[in-house]
Amino acid sequence: MITLKNIVKEYDGKQEGSKAVDGLDLEIKKGEFVALLGPSGCGKTTTLMMLAGLLKPTSGEIYFGDRLVNHVEPKDRNIGMVFQSYALYPHMSVRENIAFPLRERKMPKKEAYERAREISKVVQIDHLLDRRPTQLSGGQQQRVAMARALAKNPEILLLDEPMSNLDARLKLDVRDEIRKIQRNLGVTTIIVTHDQEEALAISDRVAILNGGKIQQYAPPNELFTQPINLFVASFLGNPPMNLVDGVVEEKSGNQVVVTNGFEYSLPESRKLDREHIGKQVQFGIRPHDISITTGEDPRGIRVKVDLIEHLGSGKLVKAIDSEEKLESMIRLLADNETPVRSGETIFIRFRDDKFHLFDKT
Ligand code: ADP
Ligand code: MG
Repeated sequence: MITLKNIVKEYDGKQEGSKAVDGLDLEIKKGEFVALLGPSGCGKTTTLMMLAGLLKPTSGEIYFGDRLVNHVEPKDRNIGMVFQSYALYPHMSVRENIAFPLRERKMPKKEAYERAREISKVVQIDHLLDRRPTQLSGGQQQRVAMARALAKNPEILLLDEPMSNLDARLKLDVRDEIRKIQRNLGVTTIIVTHDQEEALAISDRVAILNGGKIQQYAPPNELFTQPINLFVASFLGNPPMNLVDGVVEEKSGNQVVVTNGFEYSLPESRKLDREHIGKQVQFGIRPHDISITTGEDPRGIRVKVDLIEHLGSGKLVKAIDSEEKLESMIRLLADNETPVRSGETIFIRFRDDKFHLFDKT
């Protein structure tokens, strides 16, 4: 449905070689909900603006279906857009705000207002049609912006950080709401966010961007369990993945990752090609894939508890290897019942098969 081919965007006046978007390829299916996720400045908004037609790519092609839209005006693209700021007109009522894009398309007032009423029901603000935006809460304003974007029945809905101005609790409700509306209407939706939890919760697929390039494009679960590179591995997950420098060695027929603090014997099912022997790697393990024994565990790794943070649902334990040879500490999760105290020695094990290995760059 939507295809981006080798899209590059350089802003005027920026130094040579600094591309806001740098060779981006992306395909979005009809009816799909896709998130563009990445740190601030990675090119998410620029990409969305190019989809909307508000910015032109420096090179590359954008297709909606078979139609090349690079030079198609925003108003002829059949898209709805919600900006981070909502951009509502303060001097207009909610009804007028929602009807505005329809009136712009010369729809008669009566019909436009009727459509505004219809769509306001979908986002549950039909009781607020006579109010001004300033008389609404943040969550209500957000719904007006959604209704306005949806009023003309767009084929594509573009959302730029649509929930960043809402408080944490409301965010969760609005997130569910957006997903429900999207499903009911079947509108192809692209959301831009820097909030990984939001992106993973709401989307069919997530494109992770860094430096104007797509790092990985996959369903949420796959990104989490099979991160393709170090950036994706360390960007996703909270608390973040533990990453430890190591070398792959062969010891009595086994492949072992040797680090300063521990040696980890790779299970048979995850044996590497011979060419990896002797290579520098990053050994990654997520905090929830580490188990903990408070008593002696001869097969475990002996570590010392440095700090404990209470998360409510459990405890985040920050441990250091007992000889303090590792450069970073190891983060792991323990449930509330596990009796750990700071300063104490514990034993940890990595759940088989749950580790990640990355070439050291
Ligand atoms: P994101 O939305 O992921 O935070 P943006 O797409 O807004 O990132 O920005 C990507 C890069 O392009 C950044 O380095 C930013 O400084 C730059 N940039 C964005 N808008 C402009 C502009 N109008 N002029 C020049 N540079 C810009
Ligand atoms: Mg942005």
